[in-house]
Amino acid sequence: MFGGKTERMIAVLREAVGAGKRVMAFKHVIDDRYDPEHLVTHRNETFDAIRVPNADAILKMVMNGSGVKADFIAVDEGHFFKMPLIPVVKTLLEKGVSVIVAGITNDAWGRPFEPMPQLTEMADRVVVKQAPCRVCGNPAAYTQRITQINTLHMVGGLSDYEPRCGEHFTPFPGPPEHR
Ligand SMILES: [Zn+2]
Repeated sequence: MFGGKTERMIAVLREAVGAGKRVMAFKHVIDDRYDPEHLVTHRNETFDAIRVPNADAILKMVMNGSGVKADFIAVDEGHFFKMPLIPVVKTLLEKGVSVIVAGITNDAWGRPFEPMPQLTEMADRVVVKQAPCRVCGNPAAYTQRITQINTLHMVGGLSDYEPRCGEHFTPFPGPPEHR
């Protein structure tokens, strides 16, 4: 969402395509900002993406009998897939598929945003891209929600969120949404 993570993902995917890998990129059906059929950066770079309703659908799309149809898969906004993404990623890794997941690590209440912490533990490499805090310019670990929301799954536009550091982050008021 901020910090150039989609830019980074698209760059990695293009490199994999250039190296002759079979690449598939996925996004959640909830994420219909801009262009539903592509990963899109805020600078309008795109990469074809398959929209799926859940993590199991990713597995179904990639598996081909006992083989696989991709060498490299990408999942954007991994937090939308919640915990079922973990076993799917494990299965694909066991099949020799490289997996890259982008997502935000803290929700609007400041809580770790599952399954990103669990994926971080499984990862060979973690790239933390942090945008500058809108208040002080320090690296921002949090996403400040600045408009009213009704559900954790509302994606919102750029105007609904601001990157904030720990000092300038205010958890969203009210009891955290149960998930
Ligand atoms: Zn700050």
